[in-house]
Amino acid sequence: MSATAIVGTQWGDEGKGKVVDLLASRADMVVRFHGGNNAGHTLVVNGEKTILNLVPSGVLHPGTICVLGAGMVIDPEVLCAEVRGLRARGFLAEDRWLRVSERAHLIMPWHRLIDRARERLRGAGAIGTTGRGIGPAYEDKMARTGIRVGDLFDDDGFRRALERSLREKNSHLEALLGEPPLVFDEVYAEYAQYRPLLEPFVTDTNVEVRAAVQRGMRVLLEGAQAVMLDVDHGTYPYVTSSNAVPGAACAGAGLPPRMIGRVIGIAKAYTTRVGGGPFPTELSDALGARLRADGDEYGSTTGRPRRCGWFDAVVVRHAVQLSGLDVLALTKLDVLTGIDPLRVCVAYEIDGVRRELPPATERGWARAVPIYEELPGWTTPLGDVRTFEELPQATRRYIERLGQLVEAPVALVSVGASREQTIRLGDLF
Ligand code: GDP
Repeated sequence: MSATAIVGTQWGDEGKGKVVDLLASRADMVVRFHGGNNAGHTLVVNGEKTILNLVPSGVLHPGTICVLGAGMVIDPEVLCAEVRGLRARGFLAEDRWLRVSERAHLIMPWHRLIDRARERLRGAGAIGTTGRGIGPAYEDKMARTGIRVGDLFDDDGFRRALERSLREKNSHLEALLGEPPLVFDEVYAEYAQYRPLLEPFVTDTNVEVRAAVQRGMRVLLEGAQAVMLDVDHGTYPYVTSSNAVPGAACAGAGLPPRMIGRVIGIAKAYTTRVGGGPFPTELSDALGARLRADGDEYGSTTGRPRRCGWFDAVVVRHAVQLSGLDVLALTKLDVLTGIDPLRVCVAYEIDGVRRELPPATERGWARAVPIYEELPGWTTPLGDVRTFEELPQATRRYIERLGQLVEAPVALVSVGASREQTIRLGDLF
C-alpha cells in the first residue's frame, strides 16, 4: 500500500483547501509534512467559516486522523487556539484524531520578532513573509539551535535551551534589529502553559504514519504552499523556507520514498502570487484587477491582495516534472468566463533563446519574456456545470490544451467554491 501526496503547482493559493477537503472525506489520515501557520485554508461547513492554519482540513471529518509531521515548525499558541476553536464547534472529539510530531520544531517569540524586524529593514526588497516566524524557526533548525516539540515536555532541558537561546537571540534583537530583549520568566511561563493541552497529541508520528500506510489506510500527504515557493526549486529568494516538493514528504512525514505511490497537483486556471518576486505573466492592468475581483484573490490568512496573470505553462510544467505528477486538478475555471481571447504562456524567451523550463537566477527571471498562445474564450457561466460534455467547447479546448502543455492529465475541474461545483474527468484518489 502507499500514500498519496498533494501539492500546489504554482505560487500557492491554488484552491488546495477545497480539493484536499474533497479527498479528505475519503482519507483515513491527512499528514502535513512541512511549513507552519503560514498556510491557510478557509473552509465553509454548515454555513460556518473555519480558518485552519496548522491542522489539516481532514479534522472536519470525524475519525480522520490529522498529523503534524516532523518537518513542520509549530507555533504552540496558534495550535492551542485552533484546537480550542475546533472543540468548541464539536470537532476533534477524541485526542487520537490529532497527532503532533515530537520532532517538529517550535516557533518561539523571537522568531516572530526577527521575522517582522527583518522585513521592515528590507524595505522595498521585502520577501513578503507572513511575519509569523516560520523562516527564522527553520534557520534555527538548520543551525542546530532549535527547540523541538518534544523538548517542551522535559522541563530541565527546556529551561536550559531557553536560557541558551535567549542569550543569543536577545543580543541579536537588541544590537541588530533595535528590538527590546525578551524576558526568560515570561517566555517560560507562556510556553509551560501550553503543555497540558498539547501533551495528549504529542508522539512519534513517524511510526503512526508508516503503520497506517502498511495497514492499507488511505493516507494523504498535504503540501503547504507550492512548488514555485520551494526553497530549492522556486523563485529563490522569494520562496518559503522549506521544501514544498512531494519529495520532501518523505523526510517531513517520516516515510520511505517507496511508500508514496501517487502524486496529485493542483493548478489554478490562471496564475496568482502574493508578495514580491518574479511573475512573468502578471497582468498589471484592468484585466488583472478583474481576475482579482472575480476570483476573490485576497490572502485567506493575511487579506493581502494577490497579483494576477495568465496561466503559465512553464511554471506548472516545472512542477509536474519535479513532482512526478500523476494527475492535475484545475481550479477556478469559472473565473475566466467572459475573457476573450485567453492567453497561455507556453514558453519563455530569455536572451533570444526559447526556454520550456524556468530559469534559476534572479537575472534569468528578470529577462524572461513570456511566449503566448491565444485560445478562444467563452461567455457561459460555469458554476452549474457538472460534466465535461456540458462545458462550452472553448472551455474543453482550454482544459485539454493546458493538460498537453504541462504534460499531465487533468482529472478534476473546479468551477466554484462549493464541494458540488466539481467536474471529475478521471480517478483522483
Ligand atoms: P488554498 O490555500 O490553496 O486552499 O487557496 P485559497 O485559500 O486561496 O482558496 C481559494 C479560494 O477560492 C477559497 O475561498 C475557495 O473557496 C475558492 N475556490 C476554490 N475553488 C474554486 C473554484 O473553482 N472557483 C471559485 N470561484 N472559487 C474557488
